[in-house]
Amino acid sequence: MSFKDRCWYTLRCCRCDSTESLPVSDQGVCWSGADWDTGAPFSRFETEWTGGGQMEPELARATCRDCGDRAEVVQCYPL
Ligand SMILES: [Zn+2]
Repeated sequence: MSFKDRCWYTLRCCRCDSTESLPVSDQGVCWSGADWDTGAPFSRFETEWTGGGQMEPELARATCRDCGDRAEVVQCYPL
């Protein structure tokens, strides 16, 4: 496993002042290559993802379920 096998996504709605953080992980093992989650199940935000499997997923769109505003996205790779 590489060290870059998990990415934390933090979504934030400025209007509602709500935040939520979830990790997206690579479940693959060395010999079979990458096997990324296809996204993370956020409860406060509506999310659309691209990628998954061999490709590290990317958050294509994130909107707040309460007010419909676009969420602020922060990606973070822990050491
Ligand atoms: Zn909101």
